[in-house]
Amino acid sequence: MSAIDTLPSLAQVIKNHGLDARKSLGQNFLLDLNLTSKIARMAGDLTQCDVLEIGPGPGGLTRGLLGEGARRVLAIEKDARCIPALAEISEAYDGRLTVIEGDALDINPLEHLTPPIRIAANLPYNVGTELLVRWLTPPEWPPFWQSLTLMFQREVANRIVATTGSKAYGRLGILAQWRCDAQIVMSLPPEAFTPPPKVHSAVVHLNALPEPRYPAKAKLLERCVAMGFNQRRKMLRASLKGLAPDIEDRLIASGIKPTDRAENVELEQFCALARTLE
Ligand code: SAM
Repeated sequence: MSAIDTLPSLAQVIKNHGLDARKSLGQNFLLDLNLTSKIARMAGDLTQCDVLEIGPGPGGLTRGLLGEGARRVLAIEKDARCIPALAEISEAYDGRLTVIEGDALDINPLEHLTPPIRIAANLPYNVGTELLVRWLTPPEWPPFWQSLTLMFQREVANRIVATTGSKAYGRLGILAQWRCDAQIVMSLPPEAFTPPPKVHSAVVHLNALPEPRYPAKAKLLERCVAMGFNQRRKMLRASLKGLAPDIEDRLIASGIKPTDRAENVELEQFCALARTLE
């Protein structure tokens, strides 16, 4: 029997290490190893990759990633109670798992990783959205990662893949689709988690494009989009007034009607507008 076969069930791990779920850390665990292997497979071929996992918790997805052959997994976990449980996994998988205790928002994982790198996570949604925006908006492209496979509330996942004219279309969809192919690859009901959250969830897979679909500076595009959608019911000539005194001329030069609302403006036009501000 290999060491992997001697790892206890996730329910047992939670019991052994007293990992009762904490709301403050957004802990809704996946305890079904078939499901976590399936999510790991959604991340693509891991055999030649280092995988960065944020928020491994008791290690369900971590075991999936290692089982699918990840060359190495670097996991960042804020909850100190999980560290001994994760050490057992590291031992069973011959040290292919490295764990860092800390807040993923404060840690630069790059010094511990060798390309090619994929990222996979089941994270509390506020941390997930903040990290997603950071991963999507470095000044240079391509980024340090090849793909992101991330669990979100279904409503947030819908925003990431939303296109022009839909209610969910906004900052997240524009930033994601500007530089990535983004797809919802799995939907999960609340009962898939322990304890079950109030809402449905979905896994989004994003593949980094070799270059952005249209040229623009990330910071300027982010600003146009944030201002445009902050007051999404307003016409753009009003919501973007603070960007430049001659905003109407710039909108027209970008192929946008000053009376349009942000939700009707295509990604290509937002990029054109951002370029007028360089
Ligand atoms: N990946 C595990 C699973 O699927 O069962 C746990 C998922 S649970 C939704 C989120 C995990 O992220 C928890 O283990 C929590 O402690 C951790 N976490 C929350 N905020 C974090 C942060 N800022 N940095 C790193 N980990 C965090």
